[in-house]
Amino acid sequence: MTPLTTDQRDLLDLVRSYAGGRLAPRAAEDERAGVFPRDLLAELGSMDLMGLPFPEELGGSGQPYGVYLRVVEELARAFLSVGLSLSVHTLATWGVLTHAPAPLRDRVAHRMTAGEWLGAYSLSEPASGSDAASLSTRAVRDGDAYVVNGTKAWVTHAGEADFYLLLCRTDEHRTRGVSALYVPADTPGLSFAPPERKMGLRSSPTRQVRYDDARVPAAHLLGREGEGLGLALRALDSGRLGIAACAVGLAQCALEHAVAHARGREQFGRPIGDFQGVGFMLADMATRIAAARALYLEAAARRDAGDEHRSMAAMAKLFATDTAMAVTVDAVQVLGGYGYVTDYPVERLMREAKALQIVEGTNQIQRLVVSRGLLGNGSAVAGA
Ligand SMILES: Cc1cc2nc3c(=O)[nH]c(=O)nc-3n(C[C@H](O)[C@H](O)[C@H](O)COP(=O)(O)OP(=O)(O)OC[C@H]3O[C@@H](n4cnc5c(N)ncnc54)[C@H](O)[C@@H]3O)c2cc1C
Repeated sequence: MTPLTTDQRDLLDLVRSYAGGRLAPRAAEDERAGVFPRDLLAELGSMDLMGLPFPEELGGSGQPYGVYLRVVEELARAFLSVGLSLSVHTLATWGVLTHAPAPLRDRVAHRMTAGEWLGAYSLSEPASGSDAASLSTRAVRDGDAYVVNGTKAWVTHAGEADFYLLLCRTDEHRTRGVSALYVPADTPGLSFAPPERKMGLRSSPTRQVRYDDARVPAAHLLGREGEGLGLALRALDSGRLGIAACAVGLAQCALEHAVAHARGREQFGRPIGDFQGVGFMLADMATRIAAARALYLEAAARRDAGDEHRSMAAMAKLFATDTAMAVTVDAVQVLGGYGYVTDYPVERLMREAKALQIVEGTNQIQRLVVSRGLLGNGSAVAGA
């Protein structure tokens, strides 16, 4: 892991203080009311935080991926839905900017990296989740456009996004028949189902998107026809690191609440943290978090060096999100009855952690990616 420069340290200090002052006070109420904090994302844009890992010529900040991930961690520590939004936006933007034809890329890049336009990544369907290659949304070429029909599911930012990175079928071949399209949100033929009623992450909108004879210009094809699944998988290699960073931020937040409670709460005439049963739980929580952080930073360093990082990104996502689940469950335990009620944030953090074990490939799928890497039989497994 490369040491941070002074400028990068200053950036992280700035983000930490902004997140503590602006995001953390909003999290509980926005999550309770199901408010999507688009205003906060606009603020991130005005602070040049929505395009951190993209090249400067495309309007980004040219930061190493590890620095971008640390920013995601700080945001998620204060308000997970905001950290997740930045991660999903980066996932969609990466797919477009690295594969769009130059005229399209140059037309859209700066608005994406400035955060003026918000992105969504659309791989999953009602009947196609972990088995992403089974997707059935169809794009049929008609003159200078593709006519798209089908239903995409579980789309984070659906109805709020300005553009969609759409994975769809242009040919019958299971894997080489999948293509990627850039779809502006105002394309006629798009419609949105009501938001999913989720157990947590209610500030992060998740909806189905329906395509009814939606005409998407052929010039919006990303890469070549049939290359969509590879694009989707490469995008997920990076996106999963964003989810790992979100998980570490969430777990860190839970640990801090648990430590504060263990210091302040007295039973048997002593702070409960003095009991080894509680103190050791806190020590285990902190150790797991440090290991998860080190793993995502190591994967990011490999990515920045241009080295193979698919397996390590899957390990980071797997380990960090399992850590977030375990740490938030333990945080509820440390708070006792107070952990189980909505007056304190740790029950919300526990509900939020569960989603991270599912999104961008369930943790079973991460184990498949890692084991196939070990055994050398790495066929396409995705699961957005
Ligand atoms: C809050 C939220 C946000 C999301 N955002 C997006 C988004 O923005 N874009 C998008 O495209 N998708 C998104 N998703 C969808 C998410 O990626 C899928 O839910 C996930 O990939 C799993 O697919 P599934 O739900 O269809 O479950 P299934 O694939 O049906 O899996 C069900 C269970 O079977 C297990 N399983 C399946 N296959 C195997 C196997 N081969 N080996 C072992 N176990 C297996 C899974 O691990 C899981 O436990 C989101 C989901 C949620 C909950």
